[in-house]
Amino acid sequence: MSIKPDKVRILGSSAIDEELSFERSLRPATFDEFIGQEEMKEQLQTFIEASKMRGEALEHVLLYGPPGLGKTTLAHIIANEMNSRVRQTTGPVLEKPGDIAAILTNIGVHGILFIDECHRLPVVVEELLYPAMEDFRFDIVLGEGPSANTMRMTLDPFTLVAATTRTGLLSAPFRARFGIPPFRLDYYSADELAEIIARSARKLTVSVTDEGAAEIARRSRGTPRVANRLLRRVRDYAQVNADGVVNAEIANLALSWMKVDELGLDETDALFLRTIMEKFQGGPVGIDNLSAAISEERDTLEETVEPFLIREGLLQRTPRGRVVTERTWRHFKIDRAESASSNQLDFK
Ligand code: ADP
Repeated sequence: MSIKPDKVRILGSSAIDEELSFERSLRPATFDEFIGQEEMKEQLQTFIEASKMRGEALEHVLLYGPPGLGKTTLAHIIANEMNSRVRQTTGPVLEKPGDIAAILTNIGVHGILFIDECHRLPVVVEELLYPAMEDFRFDIVLGEGPSANTMRMTLDPFTLVAATTRTGLLSAPFRARFGIPPFRLDYYSADELAEIIARSARKLTVSVTDEGAAEIARRSRGTPRVANRLLRRVRDYAQVNADGVVNAEIANLALSWMKVDELGLDETDALFLRTIMEKFQGGPVGIDNLSAAISEERDTLEETVEPFLIREGLLQRTPRGRVVTERTWRHFKIDRAESASSNQLDFK
């Protein structure tokens, strides 16, 4: 499991370990357990079946979409279905050619190499991957200067499963080397999330009513990782403040106590949108300005915060910057005219 930058920021190392083992314990191991994304699942299953019938490695797979939607989970399911081993790493960790060489030369026949955050692969490493992906060969340069020698190695046929939150940042040659068109993971519906929550509750032996699961699902930002995290915290709340059963009322009280609002917006979402309204009259405002105003990294805003707000119709990206919508003013009950005049006072 990769450690996402947003996690490193907010959690200490033991909390990260605990969070990761919690996620692992709930991770579906087969396509049957993987809820939603039906079209993609069907296509992947067909490609896997076909490659098994041919006795070949599965074509390289590119998965993209916001964090927490199941990319890592899918990489592991693919490996399971192929009866293969999975080696897992992330783009920024592969600093030198030797790092990727060490993995690829041990990958095993039809092994799966999962590279998360592949948009952060250093160029030298990415270029070494091209012949490895195309012809299962790897060129290592030994020595330096005029005496340098290139050693060509033949690799076992393997499958690269690459995941990214930012497909726009991938180079064209890299994208061109995936045999299957990229798979885009979309946010989940409330019904799908309720199913995921019910399944996790069974695994965690938490008692959750259908209405309780629906309430958590509705406020999970369309994201299974968030749904599972909220379930865990609502369970704790129910144990301390009620008889342990998570019904709609308890879920609602717990989520409000955790400052997760009616639309599922968390504190960062609210701060982001409020700042645009209260400090920049609703926009347009540039992302770097916003990042400085709320002390949040630009990457986190672009990869984690904004996609959901855009999908919910609360934010627009325009060539001149970010703009909130009518829905946002209404949701936060902020009067646009009042906000503009108080801002003018601020600047006097
Ligand atoms: P990503 O790699 O896209 O950031 P993960 O694969 O790590 O996301 O998923 C985060 C957690 O959400 C997993 O531990 C898993 O329990 C859960 N999850 C993700 N997708 C699904 C799904 N389709 N069905 C059930 N659980 C899921």
